Amino acid sequence: MCCDSKRRFLLLYATQKGQAKAIAEEISQQACAHGLEADMHCLSEMDKYNLETEKDPVVIVISTTGTGEPPDTARKFVKKIQDTTLPPDHFAHLQYGLLGLGDSEYMFFCNGGKTVDRRLQELGAQHFYDTGLADDCVGLELVVDPWIDGLWVALRKAILLQKEKEGMNSVVDAVSSPLSPAPHVVHELNLSSEVQNLRLEGDGARSSDVLSQNLDDINLVTPARNTEASLVHSVPPLSQSALNVPALPPEYIEVQFQDICGENPHLSSLILEATTFEVPVKKAVQLTREDAIKTALLLELDISDTVFDYQPGDAFCVICPNNANEVEELLHILGLSEKGDDFVCVKVKQGTKKKGASRPQHIPERSTLKFILTWCLEIRAILKKAFLRALVECTSDTGEKRRLQELCSRQGASDYTRFIRESNVCFLDLLHAFPSCKPSLNLLIEHLPKLQARSYSVSSSNLYQPGKLCFVFNVVEFPACPTRPVSRKGVCTGWLAALVAPLLHPSKNTLDTKGESSSTVKISICPRPNNTFHLPADPSVPFMMVGPGTGISPFIGFLQHRQKLREQHTDWEFGETWLFFGCRHQNRDYLFKQLRCFLENGTLTHLKVCFSRDSSTAEVAPPKYVQDVIRLYAKDVARVLLKERGYFYICGDKKNMADGVSDAVVDILSMEMEADRLEAMKILAMLREEKRYLQDVWS
Ligand code: FAD
Repeated sequence: MCCDSKRRFLLLYATQKGQAKAIAEEISQQACAHGLEADMHCLSEMDKYNLETEKDPVVIVISTTGTGEPPDTARKFVKKIQDTTLPPDHFAHLQYGLLGLGDSEYMFFCNGGKTVDRRLQELGAQHFYDTGLADDCVGLELVVDPWIDGLWVALRKAILLQKEKEGMNSVVDAVSSPLSPAPHVVHELNLSSEVQNLRLEGDGARSSDVLSQNLDDINLVTPARNTEASLVHSVPPLSQSALNVPALPPEYIEVQFQDICGENPHLSSLILEATTFEVPVKKAVQLTREDAIKTALLLELDISDTVFDYQPGDAFCVICPNNANEVEELLHILGLSEKGDDFVCVKVKQGTKKKGASRPQHIPERSTLKFILTWCLEIRAILKKAFLRALVECTSDTGEKRRLQELCSRQGASDYTRFIRESNVCFLDLLHAFPSCKPSLNLLIEHLPKLQARSYSVSSSNLYQPGKLCFVFNVVEFPACPTRPVSRKGVCTGWLAALVAPLLHPSKNTLDTKGESSSTVKISICPRPNNTFHLPADPSVPFMMVGPGTGISPFIGFLQHRQKLREQHTDWEFGETWLFFGCRHQNRDYLFKQLRCFLENGTLTHLKVCFSRDSSTAEVAPPKYVQDVIRLYAKDVARVLLKERGYFYICGDKKNMADGVSDAVVDILSMEMEADRLEAMKILAMLREEKRYLQDVWS
């Protein structure tokens, strides 16, 4: 991008699920309103920027993966800056501001951002603005919004300083003089202004639109009988407040219907970062009983005709579509029911005010409308404020319009968190709740993120079952609630469950009753690289596995692999193996009862199980959760980890289990080493560093 060097800054982002990119785009848009120009690139586009020679300030927005790694798109960059031969003044010329995104529910909160920040500091780079660490758990916007608000003053100062250094005094005047009209000034109008003012001013060039309404209007939004706020109703003080709403994002996509027929793009064109494989589902088994709280399914894929390869412990991705009924419903609400199968051409809108606008990579230039809504857009995504802001313009009812303005305004931040974020309100929910909102297609493409492929841990060994790949998942269920009158299933798990239902219950007139089928049910998968969650390279090293619920999945692969190795290499020495498994009820959701076979043939040395909801008549109640069981084997845990330099693996639910297990291990280390907790935590950190304490957790 060619930028005016007097106002330019370099804006880099590294995104895993699109959030960092969306925030970088927001920064880029707001920059224009502040008279600055963002030269924006993904961190992976290393041929498009050069930090070694960069003179202008650099803004970095970077997310973190669930395992605490930087996103895939930042890996090369991180590797490059971690080169230990770089001198400590390598980036002494660099001024930067960094915004890290993370989720405090995960162990390594904002670790991607922290890693880059730490290393840039070590290499002499200077902060021109304090680092922001935003937490998806409580709402990214709580940090992101004020961080962006404060960025502009800091950036101007940094640019000024840089140009002073370069002796560009004439430029200094240009940058330091307030832009006219000062775009970042927030105006608040008083409530008695005319109702016509409700029409938003400006065309997106302002960083904050100002709204005002007379009190009669406000009463329309909040009828006296509604004393409780809800998604569609507000209560004082918000309902009576003047609002600062974000700038209207400039529209930049044009969707043209075409009179052509043809074929939709292949799914592989949607996954740029990996090769995709379309493989048959050979077998589907329900591992849980009908009365279990969650339904767990095991699917066996036939990968024998592909070059897809994996190691036990790897995860891979399933490319899934949105729910077909939801797509139809969306088309219906948008008034496009008849046009779903029509081809559309998606282009950048001519004359758009969005800087550097381009068609999102995940949207084909030509495809049917249904293809876009089914395979490309995460239509269940929680609505971002920028999207709400854009939807205000397509809403005709005054009350609905005002409520949407509130939800994206600064004053309505807590209502946004409560009624949108925490209630997981998606686009369809919103269209139901705000029936006068009739958005055009381009807005969906501009604001809905890419439909992500879902990751699953492999639950098999390629040595034990060549040509097969198994995985296990719980069918995610979202019960009905006030904002969503019908219950839903997870996008991917709901789709998979419906897809394999005929395999689970083979019809009576087929000969096949064992669950294995010659059906042509196929799914598209792709590898998920960069995994360290593998068996120890040295088989004589002992290891412990903790995998309650579906967390057991990769350990089945480990054990199958180990069993085969033991059969093939009778002269090898094999270390002891421990498995801690837990579920709710022994008779309903004990996923792999055949674990006993591994125990009987010596592959598994110790199997420790617990059942959290089974009642017990024992005098001393048995432990309920895996972390409680681990504590019973404190001496063994300490021995394996400290004396025998063994490995400790945890897989499964992040929220309720992995942290509890880590706490238990810290307590054990502290007790067994007679050290304080801090010391024990340091040891655990060292074990993680040595990749001997490994987690594969998801929420
Ligand atoms: P989605 O539709 O994506 O919904 C899941 C999430 O969306 C919820 O957790 C919640 O955060 C949010 N959400 C959406 N709507 C609502 C709502 N109405 N109410 C509440 N929350 C809502 N899973 C397994 O079962 N087995 C595995 O082996 C496995 N391995 C994994 C390995 C890795 C490396 C990773 C990252 C994840 C793994 N997962 C695994 C999780 C898996 O990728 C999916 O996240 C999971 O299956 C749900 O996908 P889904 O599309 O069905 O659900």
